[in-house]
Amino acid sequence: MQDLLQETLTNRILNEWVKQTHPDQIIEKIGGYGLAAIYKGAKPGKRILIRGDIDALHIPEPNDLPYRSQNQGVSHKCGHDGHATILCGLAQWLGEQRPDQGEVVLLFQPAEETGQGAQAILSDPQFEQIKPDVAYGLHNLPSFEKGKIMVKDGCFAAASFGLKLVFDGRTAHASQPETGHSPSELLAQLIHHLEKKREQLKAVKPLTTFVITHAILGEETFGVAPGHAEIWLTLRSFNDCNLELMSTEIIEFCRAKAKDHLFDFNFSMHEAFAATNSDANCVKTIEQAAKNLELNLGHLEEPFRWSEDFGRFGSVCPIGFFGLGSGTEQPALHDPMFDFPDDILEIGMGMFWEIIRLELEG
Ligand SMILES: [Zn+2]
Ligand SMILES: [Zn+2]
Repeated sequence: MQDLLQETLTNRILNEWVKQTHPDQIIEKIGGYGLAAIYKGAKPGKRILIRGDIDALHIPEPNDLPYRSQNQGVSHKCGHDGHATILCGLAQWLGEQRPDQGEVVLLFQPAEETGQGAQAILSDPQFEQIKPDVAYGLHNLPSFEKGKIMVKDGCFAAASFGLKLVFDGRTAHASQPETGHSPSELLAQLIHHLEKKREQLKAVKPLTTFVITHAILGEETFGVAPGHAEIWLTLRSFNDCNLELMSTEIIEFCRAKAKDHLFDFNFSMHEAFAATNSDANCVKTIEQAAKNLELNLGHLEEPFRWSEDFGRFGSVCPIGFFGLGSGTEQPALHDPMFDFPDDILEIGMGMFWEIIRLELEG
């Protein structure tokens, strides 16, 4: 499988698989290399969307498993190969048995890791054909017992985005820095201020924080006094409003400082993820499905700090998101040794199957 918005081969393989299950309709490309398969019941009813992400990461795979990645430097260290396989299994079951009423959309979604995929699907005009009444998704969870279902009312995973702050002065010959306008002092001040602010935010609940991920001053040279500086931040919160407040505060502070010191200031936002907020009724349905299947069910006390772009679907319909334990010994997500355990595939399939039954027949 491939990564980011380059899931061409993945899209082709999924297409081949899905076609042999004879869905009533296939949208072969949606939101880039996404794929949607629609299975209709005999009677009209609700439309439920089940989403599986399909993208990989820029992480080399150091193991020698027979199914290790064939693409150098790219591998499935978040288990999206497992999530996609769960949907392939569902496609097979739906091929053999349609729901009595309503319809099921299986959505194979690209580019989850950058936060672009769900938005690309929603922005695609073809989305009107699959716009759901309710949508569900899952993520495997290392450090949780294999097959354990984890739910949480409200926020399941944090909102986040990248913020690039850019300051421009004027370069000069390194022998005459006084003729230019270097942002080095400003950069040092801002980093100091931001780090202090981050300390203060530790006391704020629910989680609202940021981290400086990268900074740039001038070019890699000894001959030029710098005229350009950048600070890159990742902002994170369990609450979309708090996230916006924090970013506005940082941007306005930097704008004022830049103005005071006569620098041009610009900013841009990247990789934006909305908070993944599960609807209360969807959480009840997930709990009921886990109980009906006699699965081990747990409740998260706090949302996850990582972000999940499934939250975007919350802008069109109620959504339900749950975690599926992938083993207490399993390395963390994005660890080079992570390997999706195949023995939880059927549990994921069973959960979605039961959720579909409860939603369409309940
Ligand atoms: Zn990931
Ligand atoms: Zn993931």
